[in-house]
Amino acid sequence: MQANLPKYDYDIVIIGGGPAGYTAGIYAARAGLKTLLIEGAGTVSQITITDIIENYPGIPDGIGGFELMQLFKKQALKFGLESLPRDVTAVKKSSAAEVIWEVTAGDKIYKTLCIIAATGAMWRNLGVPGESEFAGKGVSYCATCDGPFYRNRDVVVVGGGDTAIQEALFLTHFAKRVIVIHRRDRLRAAGMLQKRAFAEKKIEFIWNATVEEITGPEFVTGVKVKNANTGVISEIAADGAFIFVGRLPYTEMFKGLVEMDKTGFLVTDEHLRTNADGIFAAGDCRAKLFRQVVTAAGDGANAVHSAELYIDEIKGQTY
Ligand code: NAP
Repeated sequence: MQANLPKYDYDIVIIGGGPAGYTAGIYAARAGLKTLLIEGAGTVSQITITDIIENYPGIPDGIGGFELMQLFKKQALKFGLESLPRDVTAVKKSSAAEVIWEVTAGDKIYKTLCIIAATGAMWRNLGVPGESEFAGKGVSYCATCDGPFYRNRDVVVVGGGDTAIQEALFLTHFAKRVIVIHRRDRLRAAGMLQKRAFAEKKIEFIWNATVEEITGPEFVTGVKVKNANTGVISEIAADGAFIFVGRLPYTEMFKGLVEMDKTGFLVTDEHLRTNADGIFAAGDCRAKLFRQVVTAAGDGANAVHSAELYIDEIKGQTY
């Protein structure tokens, strides 16, 4: 019963071409929903710069991030998903009809009943010499992904928030020593995490210190730290540098439309509905605790399920 619905181009427009976006694409296209996925022309999913993924179920030998993403995409296109490499520049409600959203990409406006925001997030960089040079060669932003490569080795963790401390604790399963370098004399992390970290013999702390440089000839061999009180610079030997100084979501286009947390992550309910009717969020751009390929894929599937229920509901209404 959609006779009264205003004109639109797509049932769902998915914004973002990472694991959440393409999983949503698989589910939506396979369900017969007319779906367009718009993936950034100038940005890449974090997964495509991940060397090897060893914890995605069903792939016991591991797989390169880029290769895995190609498989997601192939599967979605097979079911009839349309995909478009363009940067989305605006999202707004149609002035002609309450239930239609307009997504601007390039010189075109796409009218849709639903949007699945799967725009992802990027690790906040420290911005010190050596950081980009040694990315994938000892510099990491994911302990779950790279921790197992550091068995019986020494690593530093930069940051003092929940992520840094949680990941430092995780790294103790592998590393011989985990040295947390924090710019203040107190952690930002929750009390319970602090308590566990202080009780963990493998974890040491360097307080009031900022990392000035990550060093090594080919792979990381250490970091130069500056004491904030004395200004003295010293070098700490380490085989890996894990950087957890916060994360920034790509959610600018939803400002003023969708509720966000204080960092800009999109707030959803358990069914991945945002507070804006017809907009759902999936993957790393969503406010949540655990950001992995497998959780992003799960989000993509769930968001489509909720979008289908929403579409059924609005198609049953009179306009
Ligand atoms: P965060 O809370 O923003 O903490 C970032 C940490 O990095 C802070 O300790 C900050 O220092 C430090 N930092 C920032 N910029 C820096 C720089 N340029 N140089 C050195 N240090 C720098 O980020 P997060 O830990 O990723 O957490 C993000 C959100 O997810 C938070 O809301 C957090 O509660 C939540 N989270 C929760 C859990 C959990 O509950 N288990 C787990 C993970 C994340 P200062 O403290 O001095 O600002």
